[in-house]
Amino acid sequence: MQIQIPEKVNKIIRTLAAAGHEAYAVGGCVRDALLGREPADWDITTSASPAEVKALFHRTIDTGIQHGTVTVMLEQEGFEVTTYRVDGAYEDCRHPEEVRFTKSLLEDLKRRDFTINAMAYNETAGLVDVFDGAGDLKKGLIRCVGRAEERFTEDALRIMRAVRFSAQLGFCLEPATEAAAGRLCGNLSRVSAERVQAELVKLLVSPHPEKLRDAWRIGITGIIMPEFDRCMACAQNNPHHIYSVGEHTIRALEQVEADKVLRLTMLFHDFGKPEMKTTGGDGVDHFKRHPEAGAELAEQILRRLKFDNETVRRVTKLVLCHDRHPELTPAGVRRAVNRIGEELFPLYLKVQRADVLAQNPAMQEPKLQALAEVGRLYEQILEEKNCFTLKQLAVGGRDLMEAGFPAGPLLGEILAYLLELVMEAPERNEKEWLLREALRKYRE
Ligand code: ATP
Ligand code: MG
Repeated sequence: MQIQIPEKVNKIIRTLAAAGHEAYAVGGCVRDALLGREPADWDITTSASPAEVKALFHRTIDTGIQHGTVTVMLEQEGFEVTTYRVDGAYEDCRHPEEVRFTKSLLEDLKRRDFTINAMAYNETAGLVDVFDGAGDLKKGLIRCVGRAEERFTEDALRIMRAVRFSAQLGFCLEPATEAAAGRLCGNLSRVSAERVQAELVKLLVSPHPEKLRDAWRIGITGIIMPEFDRCMACAQNNPHHIYSVGEHTIRALEQVEADKVLRLTMLFHDFGKPEMKTTGGDGVDHFKRHPEAGAELAEQILRRLKFDNETVRRVTKLVLCHDRHPELTPAGVRRAVNRIGEELFPLYLKVQRADVLAQNPAMQEPKLQALAEVGRLYEQILEEKNCFTLKQLAVGGRDLMEAGFPAGPLLGEILAYLLELVMEAPERNEKEWLLREALRKYRE
């Protein structure tokens, strides 16, 4: 089997070999190259010690020296070169307690998580594939290297990695791997929030976010996000819906583009439904104020998983606004842009569309038409440079003070009032008219 290795990677491998060491491209890059995908980065594994690696190259950075990783810089590009190693047990489910260097490539490959990630390659030796990773690539299987029970006990995060790779590649978990994942996923509660977050995001923005269903069936979401399991158990007896809240959520994920904020929003958008569910005398379920409840839950969960403030802010706001339906007039849409925010409004349109597409198909057409009309009005508002924010308003606090209003919170109140008037009719956005109106209304 032949793989095209970038010239710089080959140069590093040859330099190490010329000094009497073994060196291979390894892990994700070999997997991706065999699949005909462009690898994100090329990692190199070598029998040379970190000190020996550093002695052979002009510029190196100690990026993970305690784990044997040195980054070799060639021109502006960095390549991680890691000494063959054996990991000790991951006692705290976070980091191996100790790493031991070894001279055996086989030992290094054995410590890796899945067969498809445990292949090495260089031009001289060709493909080194002791666990039949290439066979599993053909079959589309995620299979642990060695005994799945042991591997998941060493590091519970591998359980999430298994599902994440299956989502990225469209693969299935090999049955023994899946069974062990189910038995051991309770240990995920001891894995750090940052590592869980990274895997969850990779799963969500993958080409197969519906693999979240597998994560649920295996028991993973029950540990990292029990709120989702409540959605799976929440039926919706309502003409707009044909799925449980959880199934609707999965389908909504599939209907939105692979963007982190959008996929997180679809994941959380209906999380408020289970707690807000009421059933009318006619047996129909209602979910009043579920966006408010959902926004609160989304914030809690995102914080628990240690997401950054910006992501928390955007996702929470979109969840809060996801079910709003602007009046289908220019003024209605200007007000909606003002409330939802200029920056988030285009995302809100995508969220709405994905939400509708995951609802009862028999009821979709009028909803999609209304949404298209909102989109059209939005374009028109932008085109006409209509005012829908304070910064576009023709008067500011300073103008009001010059007109005799005292500094203080009253100014904000007046500006908000004027903005409402202007959103109603854009031609009012004119300094003299606005000042006159302010004086008329707030003279006393
Ligand atoms: P990606 O495309 O996401 O970077 P990758 O396979 O390169 O995929 P990394 O997380 O970058 O994944 O890890 C590089 C390699 O290190 C993996 O291919 C695997 O061989 C090994 N590895 C990474 N994390 C673990 C882990 N928790 N347990 C065992 N081996 C791991
Ligand atoms: Mg990688």
